[in-house]
Amino acid sequence: MPAISAAPTTWRPAFVGGPTLGSGLDASLLRKLQIAAYWLDRIYPGYVIDLVQGSPSGSSASGGTHAGPGDAGDFTIRDGRGNNAPTKVYILFSLTMRLLFCVSYVRGQDVNGDGRKDDSFAAHCHVIDREGMKVSAAAVQIAQFVAHLNGLVGSHPDLEASVGSPIPLANYTDALFAQRFMALTPVAAAITAHTQPQEEDDMPRLELDTNGTGWLITGDGTVAVTSVADAKVLKRILTVNQWDPASPVAVGDKVLASEVAVYDRYVRAARGSMSATVSATVDPAVITAAINTAVDAALSGVTFTTRKA
Ligand SMILES: [Zn+2]
Repeated sequence: MPAISAAPTTWRPAFVGGPTLGSGLDASLLRKLQIAAYWLDRIYPGYVIDLVQGSPSGSSASGGTHAGPGDAGDFTIRDGRGNNAPTKVYILFSLTMRLLFCVSYVRGQDVNGDGRKDDSFAAHCHVIDREGMKVSAAAVQIAQFVAHLNGLVGSHPDLEASVGSPIPLANYTDALFAQRFMALTPVAAAITAHTQPQEEDDMPRLELDTNGTGWLITGDGTVAVTSVADAKVLKRILTVNQWDPASPVAVGDKVLASEVAVYDRYVRAARGSMSATVSATVDPAVITAAINTAVDAALSGVTFTTRKA
């Protein structure tokens, strides 16, 4: 039987943070980091990953996201001579962590190539494992990440690639990762070329733009939500946990046929097509993950103001 992963289990990053910062990494995040380091070395050989801040750690710049028991880490990447790695190396590492079911943001770099550093941080990659129990600040930032926002004060757009179907650690194999990574590679290339990130596949997905006025976005197109009533239906259909796509007509906590009809209407409009049997192709887990609290934020006009790295 082939090994699940060839990534070494003995390596752990050197802690290079200051005396007031925590250095903890729990088993899940450490294993994901080992896997990411393994792949990074195959794509951009010779770089070294260091841990600047683990968790629990109370740095005020981190807004409480590092308060959990080992599920958050800030990492720097350097070359063999100690120089900070190029932005493209950070972006690739971050993409890998995203694929491994983590929040990951490149900080202190110019990810979108507009000639300006994207934020005021020193260069690092901020990671939160999306698996396991979360402290509240981490959970809020995960919601922002899922809504493709940057997790910082002001809720600006996430400049990195969306990964709609990350791999939980329990499901990880090197073969599965390689397959999923290959599908993402054009996205990574597009970002490295400083173009707008694209979705990595045509899986129907919905998001509401919390910076704007309630645009419903799918992998196929964009359409405006035309009423608050419709938005409430969309929120309900996209947050329900028990939606069986093979039999979406149900009662109680499940999705109602009338709600499916509203959802289908919007997806068909976004696709410019009236014929697709959309409800049978939607992955409710993906939809739920994509929408979650973003709809509440859009409906209430709330602007996040406390998210930090
Ligand atoms: Zn951080």
